[in-house]
Amino acid sequence: MRIDLHTHSRVSDGTDTPTELVHAAARAGLDVIGLTDHDTTDGWAEAAVAAAEAGIGLVQGLELSTRYDGHGVHLLGYLPDPTYPPLLDELGRILEGRDGRVERMVHRLNSLGLAITVEDVRAESADAVSTGRPHVADALVRLGHVLDRDEAFSRYLGWGKPANVHRYASDLVEMIRVVTAAGGVAVIAHPWGRSSTRLTEADFAALQEIGLVGLEVDHQDHTPSMRQELRAIALNLGLVITGSSDHHGLGKKGHDLGVNTTDPSELDRLLAAAAASAVASGRRTPEMVRPA
Ligand code: AMP
Ligand code: ZN
Ligand code: FE
Ligand code: FE
Repeated sequence: MRIDLHTHSRVSDGTDTPTELVHAAARAGLDVIGLTDHDTTDGWAEAAVAAAEAGIGLVQGLELSTRYDGHGVHLLGYLPDPTYPPLLDELGRILEGRDGRVERMVHRLNSLGLAITVEDVRAESADAVSTGRPHVADALVRLGHVLDRDEAFSRYLGWGKPANVHRYASDLVEMIRVVTAAGGVAVIAHPWGRSSTRLTEADFAALQEIGLVGLEVDHQDHTPSMRQELRAIALNLGLVITGSSDHHGLGKKGHDLGVNTTDPSELDRLLAAAAASAVASGRRTPEMVRPA
């Protein structure tokens, strides 16, 4: 069983439609994928149809933009009730913040002397519910200002670069509570990745108290020694250990489907926690689509 629990489609900043993504996963020899677009569940239904067709498993999830102690933290939420009103409210606020930020990034780029318009960015994010910096990067590539997304981030859009603009993100603690109350389970994405702060074992333990279920240990942003240290923390605390590609299609190099995977016994633990969360919440939550 090869399991990859963190991938993106064109519904956020990946480059494959949910259907293309699922079929690519089947071709890559994966048995189960998690679809985790940024701050939206809009790709779920299409992915479920494709997964049943392709005979692979699907865990519906999303990657939530949160903040902890002033730092951005990405939180994976798996199998929550997507109609839970507090979740929908938060997603609405985040998506609004994402939209408003496009114009401000374009202004910054213009003042740096780059010719680019909001329409140029909208042309790249046409299929996306959740717009992000990668769409601005794609517009910069198409306009010939940079060679690829990487260059767009390293010159303009990345942390500390001149066109990097803040946007609304939810509070991490509050979001763990919302995902759990929606009958889902929360896993911290790339906890020590480039965009995150260095959360400590004490932080993870405190977050576990309020419902955190797992840590994404095997991720391309983590060095071998980080993975070793995070794995030891997860084992010590009894947190579920996941591994995944964070695939974005053609948009992000070094993140091929299945480049990191989750152990089947860890997926079982995650699903057991999700089942318990669903019962405790009383919400109607999605089932995992089982592989054929
Ligand atoms: P945003 O959601 O708008 O804050 O943009 C963050 C997203 O940009 C991340 O989730 C990644 O998908 C993507 N990203 C960050 N750095 C890079 C990079 N160097 N190259 C390509 N994509 C990146
Ligand atoms: Zn992304
Ligand atoms: Fe992320
Ligand atoms: Fe991601």
